[in-house]
Amino acid sequence: LTRLYTPLTALANARVDVMTALVSFERVFEVLDLPPMIIERPDPERLPAGPVSVEFDDVRFAYPAADRVSLASLEEVAVLDARGGEQVLHGVSFRAEPGQVVALVGPSGAGKSTIASLVPRLYDVDSGAVRLSGVDVRDLGSADLRAAVGVVTQDGHLFHDTIAANLRYAAPDADDAELWDALRRARLDDLVRSLPDGPETVVGERGYRLSGGERQRLTIARLLLAQPRVVILDEATAHLDSESELAVQAALTEALAGRTALVIAHRLSTIRTADQILVVEDGRVVERGRHIELLAAGGRYAELYHTQFAAEEERREPDPVIEVL
Ligand code: ADP
Ligand code: MG
Repeated sequence: LTRLYTPLTALANARVDVMTALVSFERVFEVLDLPPMIIERPDPERLPAGPVSVEFDDVRFAYPAADRVSLASLEEVAVLDARGGEQVLHGVSFRAEPGQVVALVGPSGAGKSTIASLVPRLYDVDSGAVRLSGVDVRDLGSADLRAAVGVVTQDGHLFHDTIAANLRYAAPDADDAELWDALRRARLDDLVRSLPDGPETVVGERGYRLSGGERQRLTIARLLLAQPRVVILDEATAHLDSESELAVQAALTEALAGRTALVIAHRLSTIRTADQILVVEDGRVVERGRHIELLAAGGRYAELYHTQFAAEEERREPDPVIEVL
């Protein structure tokens, strides 16, 4: 694991500053969808054209100790540094075929977000490999990787800038027709048209205040404009009002169509329709399969389902598939 700041972390006095700087760094890179402090190969490989498969091959990973910003003391950090950090992923293997939606479910702290962060190479694995269409992400050029992998997080990071600028960030060459098409598919065109400055309206703290659902749809519109072949989606846990919820769901369906997706799934509807569900616990995939298979297996997924989703299920229309079975 190569981290550019390693020499700095040796300076104990500078450590707090370094850690503070790292936090804001990570935020910035989250916004920019850029891998932080990752070294690009001088002669990178190209990602083959066409739909992309995502493969984790016995991935083991520990966060660099300096990233454990919540730790109380510098001594604690030093101890972890010496140990190389606590392992978070203990040999994760799976394969998302091109165009498949893979849902990651499991308790908080299990490692779902960590798995997701390794695809755009926010960190490098300690052993094993993450491959896109058979190519190790460490062998890909960073521009290639950034174009291929789009990330949509819960809170939808936006710049304090115009709607158009926020959209064009990921696709600077997009023309107006493409921009409006993305807004329409994200169910935002009516709203943007109604604003006094249209797409030139400034959003963010001192600008026009978008609702939670609108922010999410704007990040989805950005994704639709950039057309990445792989989508990493961290679904919102909080429930939006039902109208926003429907609009966000419709926008996401558009965004995922024809793409390979890794979804940290909180919605039963996503989980039920996923091509593959991975149950992640304690840094391991403990079960995998489709909704119906896993329910029938009566293991961890079934348990999770009954504690978390059974109530939600009861409010739904009867499921024709389950009835047939
Ligand atoms: P999940 O998404 O399933 O809730 P995470 O992948 O966020 O789980 O976390 C897995 C483990 O890694 C947890 O123990 C968490 O505390 C730790 N962790 C997450 N992010 C970081 C980080 N940036 N630095 C250090 N440890 C982290
Ligand atoms: Mg998470």
